[in-house]
Amino acid sequence: MTNLQALLQYQGVDAKLLKLDRELAESEEYKAYRKMQKFIKTAPEKLEALDLKATALAAQAAQISAQYAQLETTLAEFENIDELVENGGDISFYKKKMQEIIERLRKLKSDALALEKSIKETSEEYTALKEKIMAAEKPYAVAMKKYKAFKESQEEQRKEIETALATLEKNISEEWLGKYKAKRESKVFPIVFQVTNNVCFCGLDVPIANRDKLSVGTECDSCHRIIFTE
Ligand SMILES: [Zn+2]
Repeated sequence: MTNLQALLQYQGVDAKLLKLDRELAESEEYKAYRKMQKFIKTAPEKLEALDLKATALAAQAAQISAQYAQLETTLAEFENIDELVENGGDISFYKKKMQEIIERLRKLKSDALALEKSIKETSEEYTALKEKIMAAEKPYAVAMKKYKAFKESQEEQRKEIETALATLEKNISEEWLGKYKAKRESKVFPIVFQVTNNVCFCGLDVPIANRDKLSVGTECDSCHRIIFTE
């Protein structure tokens, strides 16, 4: 058997392994498990982000509250406005000042209300997520068990195929086996293709320059499959 025919035989068995992989990847068991796993893995990060947001919002609220208190103290000083005016102060100046402070207080009040709403929402979001995580724990464990059982149901077949492949490998040169395995990583299949009438698996006519090499094996210029003739 030539090197390339051995490779073709190897591929025939390898196709069974690929089929098993696809069956697993496309199984409802895997999809359900994967979806839950994604949620479980990313949830702590989301929780932490919400926690950080809550801390930042609380700091902002404290700042606004301090500003508010300070302005109220300043405003209280204007209680003695009559005295100030009697002593020759300009009433319009004080009135303007007071008005400014009242405006700022109003603005702070509305900021504080918006912030309060935001804090409440963040807290609710945090609680809801935490509950969702807790509720997901059991179904996740069940989904994992089902997925593992499905995978295990393939195990015997998988081992058989792998043993057969290990035996067949011995008939193939290291160079071609290396090329095959590197291409196996990509989604291209079949990897090795026996050309008839100078047409590759991908439909491309094998260029005349490459035709001479087909008897010893070459790569398609378009799909990079290993192509050869008998
Ligand atoms: Zn091709």
